[in-house]
Amino acid sequence: MTRLTYTSGSLDADTDAAYEAELAKARAEGSPELGHWIAGEEVAAGEVFERENPSFTDEIASRAREADADVIAKAVEAAKDARVEWRRTPYAERNAKLRAAARWIEEHVPEIAAILSLETGKTRIEAIAEVQEGIDLIETYCSEIERNDGYTHPLKSFSDNEQNTETLRPYGVFGVIGPFNFPFALCIGMSSAAMVAGNTVVLKPSEEAPWSAAKFAEAMNAAGVPAGVFNLVHGGPEAGKELVDSPVDGIAFTGSAEVGRAIAKRLHEGPYTRPALTEMGGKNPAIVTANADVDKAAEGIARAAFGLSGQKCSACSRAIVVEDVYDELVEKLGEFTRGLKVGEPGDPTSFLGPVINEKTVARFEDAVEAAKADGRIVAGGGRPDLPGYYVEPTVVGDLPRGHRLTRDELFMPFVTVTKVADLDEAIEEANAVVYGLTAGIFTEDDAEAEEFFDRIEAGITYRNRRAGATTGAWPGTQSFCGWKSSGTTGKGGLGPHYVPQFMREQSRTVVS
Ligand code: NAD
Repeated sequence: MTRLTYTSGSLDADTDAAYEAELAKARAEGSPELGHWIAGEEVAAGEVFERENPSFTDEIASRAREADADVIAKAVEAAKDARVEWRRTPYAERNAKLRAAARWIEEHVPEIAAILSLETGKTRIEAIAEVQEGIDLIETYCSEIERNDGYTHPLKSFSDNEQNTETLRPYGVFGVIGPFNFPFALCIGMSSAAMVAGNTVVLKPSEEAPWSAAKFAEAMNAAGVPAGVFNLVHGGPEAGKELVDSPVDGIAFTGSAEVGRAIAKRLHEGPYTRPALTEMGGKNPAIVTANADVDKAAEGIARAAFGLSGQKCSACSRAIVVEDVYDELVEKLGEFTRGLKVGEPGDPTSFLGPVINEKTVARFEDAVEAAKADGRIVAGGGRPDLPGYYVEPTVVGDLPRGHRLTRDELFMPFVTVTKVADLDEAIEEANAVVYGLTAGIFTEDDAEAEEFFDRIEAGITYRNRRAGATTGAWPGTQSFCGWKSSGTTGKGGLGPHYVPQFMREQSRTVVS
């Protein structure tokens, strides 16, 4: 099996064939009616909801049951019952279980990738890379607790008969709420970090992709993770709210800023504050200076803007270009964009598949109208004649400074290009949004790059990345921290500071 990341490689013939066979099967059969997983058992409770295939909207991709308050309460209870034993299990044994789940996933890559393509419309390269990311997230977090030897350290003492240590301890039960765009990798990332740290978990994945997340539950069961340590409940925002309102000890959330901030607020109410680890949206800029290689910049911006149909939190949605190279960049970006193929994920030549749902298509049409009224469509703006939620990758120039299309997260294949006088103004414009997730710069000048890294308000930054101006972070390679409205804790996923956020500190003084 070829190992892919979001920014590397292409598939080999065997991988292609295996993926295509699995996609045909998944499409023909759809998911079984998915129940919840509570205390190691599948629970068929609640109304059935259906998820359509965004690439062929007259087909159903998956069916699952909506968890009500009773189901959520049972799942949280099961996680509470399992937490003491899991906490007391040495981290090496916990890691062994999680790594066994990773091995199971490794043996099911084409099948899981096909399900991801079916439910989210992502292309095969994006889907296979996402499965690989899930595996690497487990490995990264297991390695972190090993590298830190369980996060226990000796402290100073004032006398020979006093021994002082400090240790990080799990909170107990974490509720985990996932987004639609990486429904496998991010549910795994948040849940596995919580479990590596010794917490038990109740996961509620996105209602748009229940089948993808259910594969993780299958991996956990196959790995022999003890009953109740990992529980899965399906459903939409109502189920999410129930989980937030339940007596969990903390929530890990990845999704929109609006929902994430509401969750954080809720967890600060009540008898005491509970941790809300939130990773949220972005309005990610790529700056192009007068000293940039403009070909590199145009390709890097297009790849980051249109990969996964612009539905990555890290997608580049704003190019900010110094006036000396503005016309050249606009022309090259438009040309590169017109060469990208929109098509069904099963077609290996598709660069982007459909967007996730009808609401996103409506948002696209509204944005195109606004762009026509207030700016200029350089490329795209239309809808291909295909039987799903397809829209063209779109480049917009000449909008007035501060226009809402250059400020609000749109989450679709849509990038604006803003002209500025110099680097100073470019950085000001880049920072003029509430978000602070990813950012890129194209310059061949080291001093310009240093100025950018020093002043940019973003947690994940790149220079001269042709493979993706602002996208493609990978576990253990880039840490992924949202600043401002893109996160709440000042520490992110994928890197060395994630696992400890699922733990709290205790010092121990023992006098003999
Ligand atoms: P969303 O906020 O609409 O939904 C995310 C999850 O929250 C879903 O499971 C949903 O059912 C649940 N939910 C919705 N309302 C809720 C409520 N009131 N209480 C509790 N749960 C609720 O986000 P989405 O559309 O699934 O995902 C796209 C968003 O996620 C974008 O804003 C994107 O930038 C962001 N995202 C961020 C990162 C990151 O690492 N920073 C990664 C991926 C996606």
